[in-house]
Amino acid sequence: MDCCNVDTEKKFDLIIIGGGSAAFAAAIHANSMKVSTLMINGGLPFGGTCVNVGCVPSKFLIRAAESIHHASASNFNGVNIGKPTINFAEIIKQKTALVADMQQHKYLDLLPGLPHLKIIEGKAKFVEKNVVEVNGELYEGYKIIIATGATTLVAEIKGITDVPYLTSTTLFELEEQPQSLIVLGAGYIALEIAQAYHRMGTKVTIIQRSKSILSKEAKDITDELEKHLAAEGITIHTGTTINKVWKEGANIKLSYTTGTNETEAIESSHIVIATGTKGNTKNLGLEKISIETTERGLIKVDELLRTSAEEIFAIGDVTTNPPFVYTAAYEGGKAVVNAFKAHHKQADFSVLPWVVFTDPQVAGVGMDETEAEQKGIPHQVTVFHLQDIPRSIVALDTRGFIKLIRNPENDLLLGARIVAPEGGELLMQLSLMIKYRIPLKEIIGMFHPYLTLSEGVKLAAMSFTTDVKKMSCCAS
Ligand SMILES: Cc1cc2nc3c(=O)[nH]c(=O)nc-3n(C[C@H](O)[C@H](O)[C@H](O)COP(=O)(O)OP(=O)(O)OC[C@H]3O[C@@H](n4cnc5c(N)ncnc54)[C@H](O)[C@@H]3O)c2cc1C
Repeated sequence: MDCCNVDTEKKFDLIIIGGGSAAFAAAIHANSMKVSTLMINGGLPFGGTCVNVGCVPSKFLIRAAESIHHASASNFNGVNIGKPTINFAEIIKQKTALVADMQQHKYLDLLPGLPHLKIIEGKAKFVEKNVVEVNGELYEGYKIIIATGATTLVAEIKGITDVPYLTSTTLFELEEQPQSLIVLGAGYIALEIAQAYHRMGTKVTIIQRSKSILSKEAKDITDELEKHLAAEGITIHTGTTINKVWKEGANIKLSYTTGTNETEAIESSHIVIATGTKGNTKNLGLEKISIETTERGLIKVDELLRTSAEEIFAIGDVTTNPPFVYTAAYEGGKAVVNAFKAHHKQADFSVLPWVVFTDPQVAGVGMDETEAEQKGIPHQVTVFHLQDIPRSIVALDTRGFIKLIRNPENDLLLGARIVAPEGGELLMQLSLMIKYRIPLKEIIGMFHPYLTLSEGVKLAAMSFTTDVKKMSCCAS
């Protein structure tokens, strides 16, 4: 490195930039291979988005909100329920304590067991291909993995920077309950926030530009979820164009034009932006080393997680790969193997289960009917409603359906979409069927305990060929 004189003790086999889930998975893998590694993390605390400001706090708040919801209403005759009292600040404090505890146990406590790993805090930027600068010091890595994650992309809306907008991160920190909340966007983070805060007593309005919520999903899925969210009292406006946002007194006002060309305005105590994310690449100096990114600052990688610069890999939310914590961690291990071993491991996302943690949940794996159509794969669809699943019938909660997409020529499952309370719990059975090419008839031939939701998968599978409604108990 002629540009830079890097001290010997600052030279490593591997530098990982970032300290989130992707980085930790890579560091643990590198340690097991005795690769001397430096992890540099700045911005969020070690552990990154998922534990500190993402999955963990959001799922805690969703569960807290769910317990309020169940305490407020029952479908069963003879169960009389009153309005629960809520101490919002206490909920947030408990969330903060849980986050701290999980960050300690799942991240910081692991560090002493990783003798080949050194960590430093600070923001890294490339000086040249194998050299990064942190806190004014230079470090050299024979290989480098970028794992800097992603953050909220603030949509270009007139006036937005003049109002005190929130992101999911800052919203989860508020100890005072928002009286009312405009949620911009209707992807999974937006919808999870909307329902959780609504159930905790905030008046919520969702404003979405696309024609539907969860805009990539089929209409029957989005209609079903929208119906249940609206029935709870969440206001949803889709197909809107936002004109401007401004502050009026203590409140925030937003003007939008509807799909039918009417201009309307809404007012709210708070507004949260959840319209999408951008890769944390802005000040990384990537331009110096010719690493290609998308318009949203996401790093382009190939299936071996290599960037366009030799010896430099990228993993997790900062890449164009699916932005989940379990994919980030998976990529961490793969990138280290690809960097240091001759036998390369491709990242394979062909069987990727995912869940939207609303109630009912939306869950999916594999392709839906639109993708099967586009790919020219013979396909057949069945939609089996929870109103025909014994578990749901006795629980007096029949919201949703299980949709299976199969290839009728070989009886193999191509994909599944579920809208159901706790529907995400069904995904792994379906994922195994796709990955290991288990024909539906094999699933139909297996015992499924009576009065489980998974019995619904068997019933749905049978419904391709049988009128299940005419059967007696136990799908036989
Ligand atoms: C509200 C919310 C809910 C979510 N819920 C789920 C869920 O239920 N399930 C799920 O699978 N996923 C969920 N996710 C997504 C999940 O959190 C991410 O996919 C995951 O955390 C990505 O991990 P990562 O390691 O790629 O990035 P991150 O965890 O973001 O880590 C990147 C780290 O790098 C640091 N950094 C950035 N720039 C630099 C730099 N220049 N130098 C040094 N360090 C830097 C960052 O500050 C951060 O600490 C959720 C996300 C959000 C926001």
